[in-house]
Amino acid sequence: MIIAGNWKMNTLPNEAEELVRNILQGLQDKKFDSEIVVCPPFTNLHTVSALITGSKIKLGAQNCYYEPKGAFTGEISIPMLKYFDVEYIIIGHSERRTYFGETDEIINRKARAILEKNLKPIICIGETLSERQQGKTFEILFNQLEKCLCDLKVDDSKNLVIAYEPVWAIGTGVSATKEQIEEAHNKIKNHIQSMFGIAHDDIVLQYGGSVTSDNSEEILSIESVNGALIGGASLKSDVFLKIIEIAEKTIKN
Ligand code: PEP
Repeated sequence: MIIAGNWKMNTLPNEAEELVRNILQGLQDKKFDSEIVVCPPFTNLHTVSALITGSKIKLGAQNCYYEPKGAFTGEISIPMLKYFDVEYIIIGHSERRTYFGETDEIINRKARAILEKNLKPIICIGETLSERQQGKTFEILFNQLEKCLCDLKVDDSKNLVIAYEPVWAIGTGVSATKEQIEEAHNKIKNHIQSMFGIAHDDIVLQYGGSVTSDNSEEILSIESVNGALIGGASLKSDVFLKIIEIAEKTIKN
C-alpha cells in the first residue's frame, strides 16, 4: 500500500516544515506497513528531506526532466532530485498534461530515465469526463498505458507505480465510485499483465481523485487498489494521518 501526498504548488518552506513535522509527530511510535510518500514542490525538497531523514517517510517529486543536465532552462533533472534522496517522481499528472502540454511520449521518456536511475515513477493515467461520457474510457487508458510504458522491460515493472486518476475526479470533491474504480483497476491490471506478462499482485496501482478521510476506507478496501495519490487532503496533516491509519486497516495480504 503506497499512500502518497501530492502537495502540488502549495507550501512555503515554513508551511512545509510545519506540515511534515505534524505528520512525523502523528506517526511517532506507530508501527505502519504502508509506504508513506510526501511530494512537496521542488523549492521545499531540501527542507523536507532534512526533516524526514531517519524516518520511514519517503520523499517524492512532482515532475522532472529526462535529460541529466544541460541547457534546459527551468527544468530539474533526476540526479538533482536524487541528491535530496527523492525516491518517487510523479509524471503525467493530468494538470501537467493539460496546462503544460506533457504528452505520453514525454512521459515515456521521463519514465525510462527515472527507472534507469533506480528511482520509481508514479505514472498518472486517466480519462476526462467527456471521454467517459462518450464510452472511450478504456480506449484512452489502454492507449496511455501503451505509450507511457513503451519499451520498458519486465524488470522495470517492480519499480513502477501507476496511478489511475480520472481527470473529472481530481480536485472536484467527486471521487469515482467503488464500481468505477474496481472496473478500471481490473482492466488496467489486465492490460499491464498482457503487456509484461506479470501477475496482478505484482502491479502497484494507486487510485487518485478526491480521496479524503471519509471515502478512503471504501476505496482502499478494494482488492485491486494498492494505495492512493492524494492532493488536497494531503495538505492537512490530521486528514493525511487519518488516511494512513485507514490504509493500515485495509492492507491486503
Ligand atoms: C492529485 O493531485 O493527484 C489528486 C488526486 O488531487 P485531489 O486528491 O485533490 O483530487
